[in-house]
Amino acid sequence: VEAREGYATARPLSAARHAEAAQVMPGGNTRSVLFHGPFPFTAESGEGCRVRDLDGHAYVSMIGEYTAGLFGHSHPAIRAAVLRALDTGVNLTAHNPFEARFARMVRDRFPSLQTLRFTNSGTEANLLALACATIATGRKTILGFRGGYHGGLMTFGPGANPINVPHRVVLAGYNDLAEAAALARENAGDLAAIILEPMLGGGGCIAATDDVLRGLRALADETGAVLIFDEVMTSRLAPGGLQELTGVTPDLTTLGKYVGGGMSFGAFGGREDLMAIFDPRRPDAVPHAGTFNNNTLTMSAGIAALGEIYTPEVALRHNARGDALRQALQRAAGDLPIQVTGRGSMMAFHFMPTAPRNAEEAAEGNQALKELLFLDLLDRGYYIARRGMVALSLAVGEAECEGFVSAFADFCEIRGA
Ligand code: PLP
Repeated sequence: VEAREGYATARPLSAARHAEAAQVMPGGNTRSVLFHGPFPFTAESGEGCRVRDLDGHAYVSMIGEYTAGLFGHSHPAIRAAVLRALDTGVNLTAHNPFEARFARMVRDRFPSLQTLRFTNSGTEANLLALACATIATGRKTILGFRGGYHGGLMTFGPGANPINVPHRVVLAGYNDLAEAAALARENAGDLAAIILEPMLGGGGCIAATDDVLRGLRALADETGAVLIFDEVMTSRLAPGGLQELTGVTPDLTTLGKYVGGGMSFGAFGGREDLMAIFDPRRPDAVPHAGTFNNNTLTMSAGIAALGEIYTPEVALRHNARGDALRQALQRAAGDLPIQVTGRGSMMAFHFMPTAPRNAEEAAEGNQALKELLFLDLLDRGYYIARRGMVALSLAVGEAECEGFVSAFADFCEIRGA
């Protein structure tokens, strides 16, 4: 309570802005994930790894727009790419020279996407991948995992009242291959797809074990279901995404976030025979339209993102830095019951004695301490997700990482005592 009051007292301008916003948007909010009590701060500007709020506080962003902000705020190469696109004229209502070039770059990086299509968000990418699976198989049931997040219209908990677009979804526990196998076999005749994040992102940076991923691959093959990896967040974890590290190849993959250089972006793709249903030259083609699917700002920014900035070498180095940061944070926690889970440049704090393997276990952690950590770190000039997630961006340097570890160590010392 004291920490919340301190937070509110120090941010009168953000409080006023939030009250104004609440007159025109329910709760003053248009992105649920950004809301926290008593009110979220309003960001005025950002540069590199830093964000400044209306009340004059500066923070090092350790949340990096939930992985989409990999390049920091307004990276010069992204800025130049967007300006190039603006100079060619936006809204051309035609195929443009950027899109196929970008698609080829995406395929070169993530070879299991033999062919792909663009969308405006990760949410759409997942809905279309599922549509592709249901149409291609002629089946209806989807096997998902509790704690999975596949976008604002596909949330498999926890949390009350998610909007899940109508699919027949059956849910297994994350990392529970036996439960998944039982559900898949029970529904074998109607199972269109098995969809999962190979590491839960928003669900707490909890990785699936390689055995589970291999088991799900085998289950998909056995039942004729389409295996879909939602790599909207995890594709940053290696040059070829988390599928490259685990060695398990899905039939379809969805992408989003940083791949579009920080612009609105999504993509889905995979086996050419599955994706062929969208080929408009076919008489029975499945239409997939979208005014902004090939918008030149995103296409051009994405080309700069993959081609100039997040090259395979940079991806390797960046995720090694993330591993080092996570280990340093875990060391800073000492003997306290705190777990820093994740892989590479994505990590999350859990206040519990052993690392969670699924959403149910993660929910048993102390949530009040998570809020305290969030507020405490803001006070110390570091911005993480309210739910305890960190997504390291390229703009965060060694000095900021060291500062972050020592801010966390101070929190542990003061609050742990
Ligand atoms: N899938 C995963 C794993 C995500 O983390 C997200 C967003 O956080 C999405 C899908 C949805 O992407 P978008 O917010 O671009 O719709």
